[in-house]
Amino acid sequence: MPEGDAVYRTAERLRHALDGRVLTRSDFRVPRHATADLTGRAVTRTESYGKHLLTRVEGGLTVHTHLRMEGSWVVMPEGRRLPQGDKVRLVLANAEWQAVGVRLGMVDLLRTEHEDRVIGHLGPDLLGQDWDQDEAVARLRRNPDTTIGEALLDQRNLAGIGTIYRAETLFLRGVSPWRPVGAVADLDGLVSLARRLLEANKDHASTITTGDRRRGFETWVYGRAGRPCRRCGSRIRRGEMGAQPQERLILWCDRCQPG
Ligand SMILES: [Zn+2]
Repeated sequence: MPEGDAVYRTAERLRHALDGRVLTRSDFRVPRHATADLTGRAVTRTESYGKHLLTRVEGGLTVHTHLRMEGSWVVMPEGRRLPQGDKVRLVLANAEWQAVGVRLGMVDLLRTEHEDRVIGHLGPDLLGQDWDQDEAVARLRRNPDTTIGEALLDQRNLAGIGTIYRAETLFLRGVSPWRPVGAVADLDGLVSLARRLLEANKDHASTITTGDRRRGFETWVYGRAGRPCRRCGSRIRRGEMGAQPQERLILWCDRCQPG
């Protein structure tokens, strides 16, 4: 599941290939927009917001995509053969490049002035230029009885955290994922750490929270179920939490994250 930093990098790749260029071809392979055609319009800019991507084109239109579980945008030279099968959901091509949306979890086309309808419910974007820490913390505090593990994944509180950053942030702060939001002493510190982790990883493909780039040393708890905790030696626990069926996985250390 791509997290905010991966979506941020995807937006950069799409900007590089599409910004300022006229579309020579568009191919929406989703029933709702199967007849849409953006040929002849220039792409103005792609922005990421949390895990959402907004590709704006001339004429006041926005292509809204979401990678969900296993989606990706692949940029390749125009003319190269597309991936086979029914994986491709959308192609946006210009004279030089084609951006191919593979297994996208969502493809939508809407008026740019209506973008709020698809991202307006989201909390502040952890990697956004208008990041608002106070607002994110205030949104978390609104539901003090929710577990902090669930609250961090709820994109209405803050946008961009997935299962990796949730597990790593909570471990680093010594907070049990099962603790209610109202019982977390330093929400500010927790949120600002999550942001720093995403910032530190936004420009490269691997996720490193330990500061150690060697393979197998990148994370504290994520991907390490049953292995010894790097701090105390206890076995890393693995469980599921939350109502969002796609994002339940949680890893933690009982001793380092009591409660
Ligand atoms: Zn531990």
